Amino acid sequence: MWKRLLLIRGTELAVLAMLAAIPLVVNNSYVLGLITLLAIYGILLIGLDVTVGYLGQVNLAQAAFLGLGAYAAGLSVAHLEFGMLASLAMGFGVGLVFGTVLAFPALRLEGPQFALATLSFSALSATTLNEWEGLTLGAQGLQVSRPPFLGMTLDAPGFFWLCLLLLALVWIGMRNLLSSQWGRAFEALRDSPVATDAMGVGTYRHKVAGFALASGLGGLAGGLYAFNFQYLQPQSFGWDLMVILLLGVVLGGRKSLWGALVGASLIALLPNLLSNRGLFQLISAAGLIIAVAAGTRGLLKKTAGPFRALAPVVAMGVLVAGSFVVENTEDWRKAIFALMLFAVVVGLPEGLMGFAAHFLARLFRIAPPPLPAPAPLDDVLPKRTVDGSVLLELRGLERYFGGVKAVDGISMTVRAGEIHGLIGPNGSGKSTAVNVISGLYTPTGGDILLRGKALPAGSLFKVARSGVARTFQNLQLFGELSALDNVMVALKDVYRSPLPLVLLGLARAEENRARAAALALLELVGLGEQARSRAKDLTYGDQRLLEIARALARKPELLILDEPAAGLAHPDVNKLLGIIKLIHERGISIILIEHHMDVISELCSVVTVLDGGRIIAAGTAEQIKRDPKVIEAYLGATDGVAPAPAA
Ligand code: ADP
Ligand code: MG
Repeated sequence: MWKRLLLIRGTELAVLAMLAAIPLVVNNSYVLGLITLLAIYGILLIGLDVTVGYLGQVNLAQAAFLGLGAYAAGLSVAHLEFGMLASLAMGFGVGLVFGTVLAFPALRLEGPQFALATLSFSALSATTLNEWEGLTLGAQGLQVSRPPFLGMTLDAPGFFWLCLLLLALVWIGMRNLLSSQWGRAFEALRDSPVATDAMGVGTYRHKVAGFALASGLGGLAGGLYAFNFQYLQPQSFGWDLMVILLLGVVLGGRKSLWGALVGASLIALLPNLLSNRGLFQLISAAGLIIAVAAGTRGLLKKTAGPFRALAPVVAMGVLVAGSFVVENTEDWRKAIFALMLFAVVVGLPEGLMGFAAHFLARLFRIAPPPLPAPAPLDDVLPKRTVDGSVLLELRGLERYFGGVKAVDGISMTVRAGEIHGLIGPNGSGKSTAVNVISGLYTPTGGDILLRGKALPAGSLFKVARSGVARTFQNLQLFGELSALDNVMVALKDVYRSPLPLVLLGLARAEENRARAAALALLELVGLGEQARSRAKDLTYGDQRLLEIARALARKPELLILDEPAAGLAHPDVNKLLGIIKLIHERGISIILIEHHMDVISELCSVVTVLDGGRIIAAGTAEQIKRDPKVIEAYLGATDGVAPAPAA
């Protein structure tokens, strides 16, 4: 534990001290310029990594935010006579505001459309900076003077230290933020927006917040950029820079502050390295060695096929050959970047830092921090008293898809404390009913009442907040998060610290409580040992159980399980049976969709049978098993998977 903390914090401090000492040791304005740029790019890339790495969005606007922040800060000095801190705050604020304004509409879009929206924004911003000559002097360029910092005039080393100080503050703040519920929510919505909403964590608001923050950091970096170069031109913040920034994030390693720093050093140094033939040859050779090492590792560990292993080696080989053949490397800049980007995307999807982390962890034998003892289950999942009163009521519920009446007028009642079976042949509308109740779909007609009050229609998020939790027939886990984090994201009533406290790292206590609570739920479903495994690395059966643990983190009054036993082997079905009984004993009411008739018979006091979107029978398991309509529906089903209900 201490060793880990010492190593990690120690390295951070050592790198910071080393950088800070450079101006004292080396009296060279060229070197000073480079490390100042490194600090500025560091802030910029940490911001970009929030959107690209954590939110998983292709963000092509970060260079534009750098430009907007730069002009905002520069113009505040010229026209408003702002000091250093105020004008930097202006740069940050402009990034934050424009980021929010762009995020609101743009983040309603998916994948490529979002990328296009950010691209349009960049074009708009570049044109405005260029054409608004009255303010920016357009292509002619804007002279910016470096304002005083707390009354002091900063020389080049002084300004560098200011940049470094801000980088350190951003680093600490972002480390705290990204290791909190915020960071988990960012990653959760990347892996499954639907499940993020269904766990009561607002997908959209977190997306907007993350994007706004990233843009704010872009603006802050812009302010520093302006006072560093003291001359601004709109074309500096165009497409060329954006490609280089993306290269920096991907090459350094996504989802990593160190990755952003490594990426920043590379892109700060790269243009200079390319102009020196000897250095360029050295870099290409290093690239080739890394490609060979990564390829071999991938082949040995079977994480990469021949293409993934070989293609980067070929690309780097071409680079090495080129470094001896090409006359003027500067002219080939874009081709060189393209080769590098290709090699990294294919061969090192985790970037240099992700690749190095495996080795460093083994070299120093860094163990992950120990887990706390699980919290008592009575605290995490307090026992509810149940009285058999009406909990959920569906009245004439309908959901059509075009002409398909998937749910065609269902009325049913679920009472507190019961396990209510919902069965029917494939395609009979079970999942659709659940999707309408839980807010994934809006109903075409009918009412849904929870304890007599209308349940919000068509909002997963609001329904989740009303005390209904669910699992998904087609698993919706947060694949890249650990099992523990999957449960922690969903925990209700734990995260109360306001953002400033989180940034300052003062939310550790609630984080520890959350960890203990999540562990208790993992143990409940028998996954205590797998707490640290990534969700996507778990077996299929364990993934199903993890979804149940995650739903329980909502402390639900009503839990809806959509075919939890589908695809499970027989021993796992028995395990599942025991877990559902345990959950029921805690007073949680359950709607259980299930094909195994023996499971239904054993667990459910009431069963509703659907066919063609309508209820064809309801009663106890014994009653419906003998119902001729039910027998006919199942025997009539062409799908051989559904077992006949008669035992
Ligand atoms: P079950 O869960 O009982 O197997 P579903 O609720 O998944 O059944 O499906 C009921 C019917 O609704 C099926 O005919 C299915 O094709 C249709 N359906 C379900 N979801 C959609 C959708 N998103 N778009 C169009 N049709 C759908
Ligand atoms: Mg279904």
